[in-house]
Amino acid sequence: MWRIFVSDRIHEDGLARLRAAEDVAEVRMEPGLDPAALAQALAQGYHALIVRSRTKVTRDLLAAAPSLRVVGRAGVGVDNIDLDAAKARGVIVVNAPEATTDAVAEHTLALLFAVARHIPRADASMKAGRWEKKAFQGIELAGKTLGIIGVGRIGAAVARRARGLGMRVLGYDPYLDQATLAARGVEPVADLATLLARSDVVSVHVPLTPETRGLLDAQALAQLKPGAIVLSTARGGVVDEAALLAALDEGRVLGAGLDVFEHEPPGATRLVTHPRVVATPHIAAQTREAQARVARDIADEVLAALRGARLRWRVV
Ligand code: NAD
Repeated sequence: MWRIFVSDRIHEDGLARLRAAEDVAEVRMEPGLDPAALAQALAQGYHALIVRSRTKVTRDLLAAAPSLRVVGRAGVGVDNIDLDAAKARGVIVVNAPEATTDAVAEHTLALLFAVARHIPRADASMKAGRWEKKAFQGIELAGKTLGIIGVGRIGAAVARRARGLGMRVLGYDPYLDQATLAARGVEPVADLATLLARSDVVSVHVPLTPETRGLLDAQALAQLKPGAIVLSTARGGVVDEAALLAALDEGRVLGAGLDVFEHEPPGATRLVTHPRVVATPHIAAQTREAQARVARDIADEVLAALRGARLRWRVV
């Protein structure tokens, strides 16, 4: 009989699925524990741990949980889990990568429209009783070129939608061949420099890895078309924030839409408060539908892992 610990809050749909399983003895959800308290709890013989992005599944935490067989990430990014340590201990890691794709793609476009048409500032101005038509002249997206960096699930979902807006869509992903890129609806480009030089809007959809940290650094941002828009709903750290702020200040970057930050929460930094930045607090996947789906998916996948069944989304 399995014992399952949920250390970040997940939707009730997922908990119900776990509780309904005949081979599950206990489902305990306790969000917000500090690392020491979580280690102590897991040491009491839990077989599965379900996390979102807040819980850091470190080598030490895994060492403190000798009964643990599986870690489930309710979402996509697994940069909060020490995958090498999990592998070394024979702990399976699974995620729920499909559940949030549409939500993140839609939020990416929401940020793009918000930046292109100054929606947040225009709204704030009206709420202050003003009527400033001239101050908020925007740009159109139809006919513009969108460059997608990382043409995975979300990148492809953004590409599909952007084509519907009449945008030309380029894609850069060194792990995919040209045929796959074309099938995902992007025009392949040879390298990142080409994408940067040809795009009016650049959007990053790569995981955060040692290779992608600082992918859009000062050097890369200098290769952008003057007046380009930068979007990131991927992970803080993929875009170098200091370099982006400098590019905004110099007017080389017209605006930026950011859902993710190097340090979260970032506070009212110069980047967040910049008039040409639209910032949201890591909410791209926060839709009612996505959160229910993610909880159901991770519940099913964790149960499958415990039972030794075939896995859909095994990370390690
Ligand atoms: P995915 O694995 O389907 O796609 C990622 C793509 O990036 C892959 O095709 C991969 O080949 C490509 N890639 C890897 N390294 C690259 C590089 N150096 N240059 C260009 N491409 C590279 O993942 P996904 O479901 O599309 O999600 C992408 C990322 O979005 C996740 O890793 C996660 O960090 C982020 N995300 C954010 C939120 C949010 O709330 N803001 C929610 C979900 C996912």
